[in-house]
Amino acid sequence: ILAVAKDFDFFYFVQQWPASYCDSRRGCCYPKTGKPEEDFSIHGLWPNYNDGTYPSNCDSTNSFDDSKVSDLESVLQKEWPTLACPSGDGLKFWRHEWEKHGTCAESIFNEHGYFEAALSLKKKANLLGSLEHAGIRPADGKFHKMEEIKDAITKGVGYAPYIECNVDSSGNHQLFQVYQCVDASATDFIECPVFPHGRACGNKVEFPSFSSASSRDEL
Ligand code: 5GP
Ligand code: 5GP
Ligand code: 5GP
Repeated sequence: ILAVAKDFDFFYFVQQWPASYCDSRRGCCYPKTGKPEEDFSIHGLWPNYNDGTYPSNCDSTNSFDDSKVSDLESVLQKEWPTLACPSGDGLKFWRHEWEKHGTCAESIFNEHGYFEAALSLKKKANLLGSLEHAGIRPADGKFHKMEEIKDAITKGVGYAPYIECNVDSSGNHQLFQVYQCVDASATDFIECPVFPHGRACGNKVEFPSFSSASSRDEL
C-alpha cells in the first residue's frame, strides 16, 4: 500500500490591521487606489501542516494571471489592499500570495477560487464586528488585555485566534495580525491544530486608529 502524502492539513487565514502596519518604523504607502477604509484586510490564506511546517511555491508553472481575477479586482482592492512601499495596485501582493501559498492548494482551488475563498472567509470572520461587539474600538493611547481581544474574536467564530503584535514608534505593542485556522476545504473555521510561534504581545495591547495614521508620502 502506498501512503500518499497530503498536500497540506489546514490553512491559516491571516488578516492585518492597516493602522498597525503603517504605524511602525517602516511605515507604509497607501495603494494607488487610495487610503483603505478602517477595517482589517487580508494578508493571505496559507496552507499548513499540523506539525507547524508549511509548503511554499509549489507550482512554478501556475504563475499569477491577473486576467483570471479581473472580475474580483475591485473587491480585492477593497478587502486585500497592499500597504507596502512604493504604492502599488495590489497585483504584486496578490501574485506573491497566490504563487507562494495558493499554488500549494491547487488540489482544492484554481487562482480564482483561491481569492474567492479568502474573500468569503473575511466576511465570515467579521473581526471588526466581533471586537466592536465587545466594546473594543480603534483608538490611539488606549490599551486592552490580550485575553479580552482574543475572547471577543473567539465569541465571533467559535475558535481562538492567534494574535501577532508589532511595535509602534513610541514602543507600544499593537494588534498587527490575526491568524485563524480553516479546514482543508477552505470553508470553515476550525480549532487551530497548531499555533504559529512568535513573541508574546504583552498584556497591554493597543488597537490603533487608522484615521490618524499616515503614509510615508504624507510625512
Ligand atoms: P514572518 O517571518 O514575517 O512571520 O513571515 C514571513 C512569511 O512567511 C509570511 O508572510 C508567510 O508568507 C510565511 N509564513 C510565516 N509563518 C508561517 C506559517 O506559520 N505558516 C505558513 N503557511 N506560512 C508562514
Ligand atoms: P509574506 O510575508 O506573505 O511572504 O510576503 C508578503 C510580501 O508581500 C512581501 O514581499 C511584502 O512586501 C508584500 N506586501 C505587499 N503589500 C503588503 C501588505 O499590505 N502587507 C504585507 N504583509 N505584505 C505586503
Ligand atoms: P497566556 O498564556 O496567559 O494567554 O499568555 C501568555 C503571554 O503570551 C502573554 O504575554 C500574552 O500577551 C501572550 N499571548 C497570548 N496569546 C497570544 C497570541 O495569540 N499571540 C501572541 N503574540 N501572544 C500571545
